[in-house]
Amino acid sequence: MSPAADAAQDSDRELVAELLREVPDFPKPGIRFWDLTTVLADARGLAATTRLLSAPVTERPVDVVIGIEARGFLLGAAVAQALGLGLVPVRKQGKLPVVAASRSYDLEYGSATLELPVGVLAPGARALLVDDVLATGGTAAAACELVEECGATVASLAVVLELPDLDGRERLAGRPLHAVLQR
Ligand code: AMP
Repeated sequence: MSPAADAAQDSDRELVAELLREVPDFPKPGIRFWDLTTVLADARGLAATTRLLSAPVTERPVDVVIGIEARGFLLGAAVAQALGLGLVPVRKQGKLPVVAASRSYDLEYGSATLELPVGVLAPGARALLVDDVLATGGTAAAACELVEECGATVASLAVVLELPDLDGRERLAGRPLHAVLQR
């Protein structure tokens, strides 16, 4: 990347870091919740976030953007529009009328299931997956496995924030991760 492009990315990253809101003890005591609403509500913040999440395509071309429910829908739609690509949602169980594949994964308490719709992901498509936060990595890993089960490939996973202490990156088994910020 050119020095000018590097500097532009640094300034985008600084803006996102400034706008990101940390909420202590939500949804329960001891959890630090990273709230993106303050970033998305700011026109410059939304534009900067979209540029940063789109950046992996310069090294790894993609055919489609996948947004992970629910904040990944907001970010994924902006990224897809910026890249001139379509958007496919990975949804929580029970929301889609026609399901191509589903994948369950463990949460801290209990489990959750993610699903992909029928007929919207072309076999062989190279996908850019988008979400807000990578914590333990369970959600992202399940989304990647779903995409692969449908015959597409994960070109990159892009998140606004990675929480490295939770080792989510390990769960991605070497799939390329692009995190705008780490906390
Ligand atoms: P995980 O499966 O543990 O990586 O959790 C990732 C999902 O949970 C993401 O879709 C986030 O929206 C949400 N999440 C987990 N931890 C946090 C956090 N500390 N702040 C905000 N969102 C979080």
